[in-house]
This record gives sequence, C-alpha cells and structure tokens, in this order.
Amino acid sequence: MGRAALEELIASAGPPLRFLRDADATQRARTRLPVGVWRERLATLARETADPSPERIARLDAVLARLDQAAPGAEERGTLAAEALALLEELSGSEPDPTPVVAPGHGGATSRRAPSARAVAPARSAEPAPTRAAEPAPARAAAAPASATAVRASAPAPPDATLAEVERWLRAASSGTSAVPGVGPARATELERFGLKTVDDLLYHLPFRYDDRRALRRAGELFAGDTASVVLEIRRVDQRQVGKGGRRAVLSAIAGDETGTVELLWFNQIRWFRSRLKPGGRWLVHGRVERGYDVALRIVHPEMENVEDADGGPGPPRIVPVYEKPTTMPVSTMRRIVHGAVDLAARLVPDVVPVRARARYGLLPLGEALRGVHRPGPDADAATLGAARSAEHASIVFDELFFVQLGLLLRKAQVAREPGVAFDGPGVLAARMIERLPFPLTGAQARVIAEIAADQRQPHPMHRLLQGDVGSGKTVVAVAAALRAIEQGWQAAIMAPTELLAEQHWSTVQRVADGLGVNLWYLTGEATAADRRAILPRLAAGEPGLVVGTHALIQEDVRMARLGIAVVDEQHRFGVLQRAALSRRSEHDAAPDVLLMTATPIPRTLALSVYGDLDLSYIDELPPGRKPVVTQVFGVAQRKRVYDLVRREVAAGRQAYVVYPLIEESEASDLRDATTGAAELANEVFPDLRIALVHGRIPSAERDVLMRAFKAGEYDVLVATTVIEVGIDVPNASVIVIEHAERFGLAQLHQLRGRVGRGSDAAYCLLIADWAQSKEARERLRVMTETRDGLRIAEADLAIRGPGALLGTRQAGVPDFRVANLLRDAAILRDARAAAEDVLAADPTLTRPESAALVRVLDARWAGRLGLARVG
Ligand code: ADP
Ligand code: MG
Repeated sequence: MGRAALEELIASAGPPLRFLRDADATQRARTRLPVGVWRERLATLARETADPSPERIARLDAVLARLDQAAPGAEERGTLAAEALALLEELSGSEPDPTPVVAPGHGGATSRRAPSARAVAPARSAEPAPTRAAEPAPARAAAAPASATAVRASAPAPPDATLAEVERWLRAASSGTSAVPGVGPARATELERFGLKTVDDLLYHLPFRYDDRRALRRAGELFAGDTASVVLEIRRVDQRQVGKGGRRAVLSAIAGDETGTVELLWFNQIRWFRSRLKPGGRWLVHGRVERGYDVALRIVHPEMENVEDADGGPGPPRIVPVYEKPTTMPVSTMRRIVHGAVDLAARLVPDVVPVRARARYGLLPLGEALRGVHRPGPDADAATLGAARSAEHASIVFDELFFVQLGLLLRKAQVAREPGVAFDGPGVLAARMIERLPFPLTGAQARVIAEIAADQRQPHPMHRLLQGDVGSGKTVVAVAAALRAIEQGWQAAIMAPTELLAEQHWSTVQRVADGLGVNLWYLTGEATAADRRAILPRLAAGEPGLVVGTHALIQEDVRMARLGIAVVDEQHRFGVLQRAALSRRSEHDAAPDVLLMTATPIPRTLALSVYGDLDLSYIDELPPGRKPVVTQVFGVAQRKRVYDLVRREVAAGRQAYVVYPLIEESEASDLRDATTGAAELANEVFPDLRIALVHGRIPSAERDVLMRAFKAGEYDVLVATTVIEVGIDVPNASVIVIEHAERFGLAQLHQLRGRVGRGSDAAYCLLIADWAQSKEARERLRVMTETRDGLRIAEADLAIRGPGALLGTRQAGVPDFRVANLLRDAAILRDARAAAEDVLAADPTLTRPESAALVRVLDARWAGRLGLARVG
C-alpha cells in the first residue's frame, strides 16, 4: 500500500521536479507544480506506512512547502526542486540522480539571462496603464484604442444577477472537469493532479502568455536574443550523451523552413519529444533564440505545438492563448479543454458586483471578460493581454478583489459590533509607567499609544496591527495598553513566537513595569511544573496582571478568566487559527482586545488585502541617538577586508554575527554553508576567537543556551543561519556579516541587519555577494545600502519579488488570488475596496434581500478562508 503510494508520488513529482531543477529563469517562472497535491499524498503516505522514515517525509514536506511559497521566477525554486528530488530519491531507496545539478543562478550560463516576461511584468507595470478599468469609464473609452471591449464597456451594464442565477452558476462551476466535452476520466485525473478540479478552476485558469500568430517569424528572421514564434519543419532528430562521462542525455532536433534552420534542444522530457518529433512534422515553436554551436541558432526547451493541432489552423492568423499545463499534456489539448469550459460555462457567469460599481469603474460583464481573455477577438491588443492589463483582465481582477474586500470589511464590521470591554478609565498606571521611563517617548510612540487607547475605550474589541521597525520601541507601547486593562481589574497577555523573544519582552516588562504594584507573570513552554502550578490558578481565577510568554499561553490548559487584551508579537508567525484560539481564551462574554505587532512592515496595498479587517498603526520613528548601521557590499574576493573589520570590532570588545544561507554543505549547490564556515573561521581565520554555531537543526533548547551564552559575552562570533532573524537582542554586537547576501530576500536582510545597531555605537552590516548575481539581487543589495526605512524596504521588496514571497502570506491566512496581482493591480484594489465600502454603507450587515446574491457568492468564495461568521 505505502509502496504503491510512494511510487505514484515519485512518478508524478519526479519529472516535473527534475525539469524545474534544471530550468532556466524563464522556464522556472512558467513552471507551476501541483505541490499541494503532492503534499497531500505525502501526508497519506505518512499515515499509511511506517516504512519510509517520518523524519524524511517531514523534511520533504518542508521543502515542498517552501517550494510552494517561492515566487515563480525565484532562483531558489531550482535549488528547492533539487533538494526535494534528492529527498524523494532517498525515500524511494534508489540511487540518487547522477546528473550534475546546475545550481540556478550560480555560474550556469543559462541562468544569467534576463528574468522571464512574467517576472518582469510587475516591475514594468508599476505605472498605471491607460486601459485600466479602474478609471472612470468615459476616460477609459476615450483613451483606449477603438477595440471591441472599449466600445462594449460604454454600453449599459447588465442588471445584477439574481440569487437563482448565482445558484445555477455555482452548480455549473463546481462540476468536475469531466463535464467539459473531451475530458474523460484519465484527463480529469491528470488535470486534478495539476490543481484543476472544477469547471470554475478551468475558467479561471488564465493564459500565462499570448502567441500573436499575426506576427509569426520565419527561420531566416530569427536573431539571438529574440523570443519568437515560428513554424518549422523537423529535419533530423538526434539523441546524444553529454556532460561528465557522457551521463547526461540531450535531444537535438534540426528544424527549419525555406529561409533557414535552427537547432532545438531538450535536456528533459527527452523520451516524450523523441517519440513525437518525426522528420517532416510541422511544429509551431516558441522560445528564446540563442547562439548555437553546430547550428548558428538554437532554442533550448522550446514550447512546441503540433501545427496540425494548433488552434486557429485555417483562417486568418490570430492571437492564441497559451496555458500552463501538466508537463506531458500537449499545449493544444490544454487550450481545447479550457476553451471547452469557456464554451460550456462562460455565459452562465453572473454579474454580482453591483451595477453601480460596474458602471462607475467601467467593468465588462464578467462572462464576457472571461471569454475575452480566453478567446481574444481578431483586433485584440496582444501587448495589453500579455501584460494582463486588458479591460477584460481588469474586470476579472476587480471582481476577485471586490469580494475579498467585502469579506474583510464585513468581518471588521462584525468585530466592531461584538461586545467588548470599554477600558475608559483615567489611565493612571500607564501614565505612571511612562513618567518613570529613563527616556521620553518618541512622537510616534506617543501617537500610537493614543490611537490604541482610543480603541480600548470602545465597548467593542480592538483588532489593531502595530507595525514598527526593530528597535522602534513597540514593547513600551504594548505595556501601556496592557496597563490600561489591568487598571480596571482585567488581565493582559503579551505573547512572542519564541522563548528568546518572550524572554526579551519579559526583561523589558520587568524593567518598565516594576514598582507599579501590578502582578507580572512569565509563562513559556519551558516553565517548570511548579511555576505552572503557581501561575495557572491565578490566571484562571481572573486575578488582574500581566503575563508574558510564548504561544504556550494559548494552549488549551491555560485559562484566563478576565483576559482584557492580548498582544501578539510578530503576528505573521501566528496563523489565523491561533488568532481564533486566542479570542476564545477569555471566558467572559466580552471579546478581548487584540493588538498584533510586527517588525516586518507591510506596504499599504498588501496590508489592505492581508489585514483589511484590521486597523493599522505605524511607528515611523526610531528613538534618538541610534547610530545608523553602515551597510556595505563586498565581493567574494574582498572577504579579507570584512574579516579585518570583524577582528577590529572584537578587539574593541564587541561581538559579531556571521550569517550563511545553508546549514551544511549540499550536493545541490555550491553555496557556502554555516557548518563549513564556522569550521573555517574557527580553524583558519580567527583561531584565537571564541566562535559558536547555531542553526535550525540544533534542538531549540540547545540553541537557546548558545544564544544566551553569546548574549552574555561568552563568544565573540556567532555563526548562524537565519534562525537569528528575529531571535536575539545583543546590544554589544556591532557587526553582522551576511554571506551570499544575494540569496536573501530584502525583508530578511533588513531583519538581519536589525540585529546590530541596537547600542549607541556605530555598527556595520557587511554583505558579501557573489558577482554572478541576478539583476534582482543587485537591486536588493542597492536598496539595502540606500535605506534603513523598513516601509521603503518592504515596498521595494514587494516591487521586486511580488506579494506571495513577501510574508509567506499563505501562512498568514491571506486568500490566494487567482488572478489579481497586488503590485500590478494596486489601483484596482483601492477601487474594489471603495466599492465594497459603498455596498456596506447601504447594507451594513448584508441582510437586505437585494444583497442575497452577493452574500451567496461571498460565502462560496471566501467564507471558509476568511473565518467569517456566517452572514444572512
Ligand atoms: P521593538 O520591540 O520595537 O524592536 P523594543 O520595544 O524592544 O523595540 O525597544 C528597543 C529598546 O529601545 C529597548 O531597550 C527599549 O527600552 C528602548 N526604547 C524604547 N523606547 C525608547 C525611547 N523612546 N527612547 C529611547 N529608548 C527607547
Ligand atoms: Mg520587539
């Protein structure tokens, strides 16, 4: 049983992972994997069999999870795929794959190419395009070329859909893909593995690219560097062995037309193409043309579509959509299936966004918009379609974002109506605490404390997110809020994601709240049984006071009878479920206030969609006297200068961090790793210094011991992976060296840099970067040297990487968008939110009969994921 399941997993995951591992940036950006399906299968495997070790399964699952989170074009996806493959092979007990791994982005010739069109699109699209539907309809109609959509957009919008229409649509939408003509059980299974289960999934499986067949090239018109489509006839097909010891197979096809020839090359899927490419066969070939060796030009891993199957065959050439698809499914088959779904269901798609908003923002009827992106008309504009900025795209995106905003705003309104406790006392305790601080509050702290106090006075629960850079002084703000509740006889909790962070809060809390006559408790997973016995009954009895701890606090056996406010630090590490558990901690009717805090600032567009149900506060000012952290980028060859600086600081009694991207040496990459790095530093570079090593595979208790020892000054240099990202506050540390800085995301680099500069002396962040870096990486490093402003960094990060990568948003409970891209569609997001606000202004609880269709769609799309109380 287990064996079969394992084999099935290997059969379905192996080839695409191998492809991704070896893919170049363009292919990587286009390759979507049904990671969710694999993980499910893995979970089944873990349940059903004791044979493959659970530890290996867990590791594979973790790698897959990261793979799933990585941005489509991210270099990291290649390495993760390699890691996943290796683990998969380990699981199966077979020999590891002998082909040498080209670590993407590291010296491989193919990896230095420009990022794919998809990866570039967000950056390019930062300015509003003229055809965006978000502008008022008349302006858009005037600005847009006289395309069918613009003409139709100014036609009167159809009336709002009725509930019956919505029900009919939901039934059609939820039918399995086999409802589409031509999809049998085998295809349906294949599609499901790829993540497409229903007709609705197919309809929203938008093309990732459009092939403008009106602009086909001929072989003689191709030049190295072009990305082009061309119809070619296969002349000869050859399989060769290359690489170390000739272990790697390559499939080469010489193809051409009367004007010239091109070599097509495959390193993967060789058998599949070998069986299909026959001399004389005519194919529509799409890809990036490079200079070749034997033949002057070549295309590696082109997209191939058999001309006989190719859509638009006879008749005038058209714009043809191209879809992501299971690896071995022909392009034309995928297109036929999606078009089948469009023909079947597009006419049933109801228009539920209220007609007022549709008219105001110039939206197309949704079904028409869907038909338009899947089957562009003869006059459609390939460029706007390709950039997902057509009026059709904008209408679909608006619809999606509108419902997310409606859901979030509705949840916010629900919370605002729930009964809470009004903490409207004089705030004497908080005032006394502030008075006794050895420093004055910053203006930003004072402002935020007032914002929070205003929320606390309301007889409804507060749900507020406090953003502020590392060291901006959030803890004091949290304590002030806690004291306000305690003053009125309630309890407060401050929770952190790790023991160390909790410990840091605890030491601050003890410092600032000492002598106020307030109960202070400390409770983490490490608490002894005696401690627990001493504290738990007092919490359960509702004795007023402040408890500081880890999420141990929200475990089932901790009861707080009178929890008035819960402060959750670094909230993105707390899932939505834990947030919900928190609200249940309290055993009275009134829901507690919730204050979330994070040092990872979130740009406004992202915040609106991730935390659209929360109120936002931002501490945009550091306490005075903080010296800027000198940030500098070094090449690998300049490492000695970096070490010299470390030595100088240590000689002056300071401490240093050295951070690596990997724990230990890996077959899959040539990155420097913490284990080797620590040994090298200890044996060769700093044999006279005291060096400690911490990383994620060291048990957390042991890790804490090491970190505490570092904090106590028992080590000079702490070598680490990103485990220290949020972990530790050591004011005496004045240097952080980051190896392979090009591998880290901006948010991570910023967090890491926040580890130093916490004292009042100068501090250094030294970034060592490989010169073979991508443009993206260079951009990140430039931003790091230019600013220390967390919000600016977050915005740049969003622009460079896109929203998915920014926060691990999926974990944060953000709905996954099917079509919207927060960067590209920021303007649409604002409009969609305004439209949702409009709707709720007219019908705050969505209980009026005319809201029934809206509620039904909202429920179908988001209710489960947004944790909405059921409406209506
Ligand atoms: P955060 O949690 O935002 O990273 P903390 O609350 O841990 O920051 O504060 C960092 C340090 O700055 C603490 O030692 C704290 O006592 C101190 N601090 C807080 N507010 C101020 C202020 N207004 N002026 C000077 N120091 C401050
Ligand atoms: Mg903090």
